Amino acid sequence: MTRNEAWSSTTLRLYTEHCARALDYAEDGIDHDRDTYAPGIVAHAILQAVGEQTQKVERDLTDAETDEVMRRVVAALVENGREFRGKHEPPTNTNHAATGLEIARDYLAFYPFGFQKGARFEVELVDGNLSAIIDYLWVGYEDGDELAPQTLVIRDYKSSWAAGPGELETLQRKIQALVALAAYPDVDKVRREVVNLRTGAVYADEIWPKEEYDRKRLGEWGADIDAIIRAVPKRGGSGRPATPGARCMGCPYWLTCDEAYPAAMLDEDMPNTLENVAAAYAICKAFVKNADKVLRSATKEQPIETAGSRIGYQAVKRRELADDAARRILDYWTDAGGQPFGLIKSLNLGVRNAENMANALFADKKSREQFLEEVIQEYAARRFGMWRGKL
Ligand code: SF4
Repeated sequence: MTRNEAWSSTTLRLYTEHCARALDYAEDGIDHDRDTYAPGIVAHAILQAVGEQTQKVERDLTDAETDEVMRRVVAALVENGREFRGKHEPPTNTNHAATGLEIARDYLAFYPFGFQKGARFEVELVDGNLSAIIDYLWVGYEDGDELAPQTLVIRDYKSSWAAGPGELETLQRKIQALVALAAYPDVDKVRREVVNLRTGAVYADEIWPKEEYDRKRLGEWGADIDAIIRAVPKRGGSGRPATPGARCMGCPYWLTCDEAYPAAMLDEDMPNTLENVAAAYAICKAFVKNADKVLRSATKEQPIETAGSRIGYQAVKRRELADDAARRILDYWTDAGGQPFGLIKSLNLGVRNAENMANALFADKKSREQFLEEVIQEYAARRFGMWRGKL
């Protein structure tokens, strides 16, 4: 299989997170909403270029050299766009370029790339019907000690604030590990790393592919991924089925999809039964969420006029407690002869306050959890909204 025919985590996620029709759009190269990915693409391109430059000059870069590489990458993306998997993509919008530059610059300011001989960046690998891009790949002996286990490091950079330890369990991480191991089958150890570019946090684990436990784990990952691939519907004459609804949330094809908008229209084909109203509600909710993200980014400088309104930011006054409010409240309370328990009762504390107190009171996680277990209780309630899955 060629790299374009093989399944990557990006294409498989279109199916598992959105719907089978999204795969058709991806295969046909239909234009998609780039807002979600654009700043991350810029940040990745900068890290790749900075990393490759360290390899070229075989030493760490100076700050001035790093700046120069960053400027060059951003200028090229804004003027010409990028080549990705043999396809030319349109130029990057300047807002996205600025955000991506900020992400990469802030990260490199705290964690500059040191030169590591043999490190490779944005490496494309294909194994059978799977493909993956590895942001950073290195094979060797840690500290140059050839008696140490031969180690393969595969690192993924994440530009989302939300990227956390759960990233090690995703489909993408599993595909990366399988494909990288197929390319380097003799290594003793794989160190998987996920780096949150916003916070600098590194989430990592190790796989020992020659050990029984990890061999079994890798086999299970392969079987799970095979099962997903087998479940993908074959593309027939009218295309793979579309399932407009909650899964349109975050779908990169929401702006061009032929199926989603009509399904939100209640007309003679879609009479206004409660079921159809609920289905339309799900699609509209998903679209509002998608539009919110796009419009927040697009209106940073100026609102957009619509019929009778404008969408964007407006200066507003908010209220917050004055800097010395805590001291004043306590003074007033004690002057009036109030007791601590009464003060706390009158504050009508919520769960968030208790969590803040736990952070202030205890340095260790266990004590914090124990405190919260004592002071927080669950109660049965119900909340209206849209929930994934069937009844
Ligand atoms: S917008 Fe909705 S219906 Fe269209 S491809 Fe995406 S998930 Fe499927």
